[in-house]
Amino acid sequence: QAVPTKRRTITMCGSVSVCLSVFAAWIAIAESGSGNEWGYEPGIGPSTWSLHYPQCGGSSQSPISVDTASAVLDKNLTAFTFSGYDNVNNISMSMKNNGHTVQIDLTGKLMTISGGGVSDIYRAKQFHFHWGSEDRRGSEHDINDNHFPMEMHVVHYNSKYDTFEDAVNETNGLHVLAFLFEVGTVNHHFDEIIHHFYQIAHKADHVNLTTFPLSGLFPGDLKVYYRYHGSLTTPPCSESVIWTIFKETIKISEDQLMKFRHNVHRNYANETDRDISNDFRPTQHLNHRFVYASDTSAIYKPISASGTLVPSSICIIAIIFLLFVFTW
Ligand SMILES: [Zn+2]
Repeated sequence: QAVPTKRRTITMCGSVSVCLSVFAAWIAIAESGSGNEWGYEPGIGPSTWSLHYPQCGGSSQSPISVDTASAVLDKNLTAFTFSGYDNVNNISMSMKNNGHTVQIDLTGKLMTISGGGVSDIYRAKQFHFHWGSEDRRGSEHDINDNHFPMEMHVVHYNSKYDTFEDAVNETNGLHVLAFLFEVGTVNHHFDEIIHHFYQIAHKADHVNLTTFPLSGLFPGDLKVYYRYHGSLTTPPCSESVIWTIFKETIKISEDQLMKFRHNVHRNYANETDRDISNDFRPTQHLNHRFVYASDTSAIYKPISASGTLVPSSICIIAIIFLLFVFTW
C-alpha cells in the first residue's frame, strides 16, 4: 500500500530538519574548535563560556570573593623563595595584545618560585592584567566584596612538566600569583610596559621589551597572602591552579590606569577601536572550598561603613516622616 502524499511530505520535512540540526551542531563544534569565540562582551561573555568550554562550568572556578573573616590560618604558608625575579640576564620579555589583555611572555626558564606552602618548584611563563573602565571595578578577585581597579596575574607552571601546555590540565599544574592594585602616585616600575602601548594598540600586535626585574613590580610585603585552589579565569578554565593573592596592593597612578583603559584595544587595526577595559570574569561560587591565610593579620572582620550608615539614615528618614505626620 502506497504512503499517502501528506505523510510522505511530513517525513521528508523531518529528515531535512534533522539534517539542518546536524549541520548547525557541526558548525558550532567547528567554531568552538577555533578557540577564539570568547570575550567579555554580550553574546560571547563569561556566562556563555561553558557552552564551548565545559570546564568553565566546574565547581572549583576562579576568581572568587575573599571573605577575610572566614579565612583559615595555615601555618604552613611560609614565605616564597623568588629566584631570578631581580635578574635581567638571559630573560626576554615579549609584550602582546591578544585582544583580551596585555600579556608579557617570559622566556629563559630562569625565573622560579618555591616555598609558600607548596612542595614543587614553579617556573614563570607570563604575566598579564585585568582592569576596569573606572576605579571601582577591574580586579577579578575581590576582598570582602571590595573590588580594585586592576589585578596582575603572574602565571607559573610546575617544573616537573616540560611545558606550560603539559601542566595546564594536571592537578597543581599551575600556580598564579595575583596582585591587586590601588590608585596612588606614579609607579615608574611600569614605565617600560606602558610606554610601549602605542606599539600594541591593536589585537595581534607585539613588541619586545627591554628586560626589567619583575620583582620591581611587586609590593614590599610578600609574606601575607591568601591561598585557595581554583582555575584559569579565561577559557578553557582548567581547574589546575594554586592561587596566591597577596594582601598588600601595588600602587599605580590614575594617569597610568588611563593608559591601560584607552591605549590598548581589543579589535584588529582595520576595525573601529574598542577598549580592552572590563576584561574581568565575575566571581564564582566557593562551593566546597576554603580560603587559607598565611598570617593572622589577613584574617579580620571588615569595618562596614555602609553597614552602619544605611540603618541610621533609614532611621533619620523615619523620624522626619513621623515628625511630619504628627505636626501636620
Ligand atoms: Zn588573569
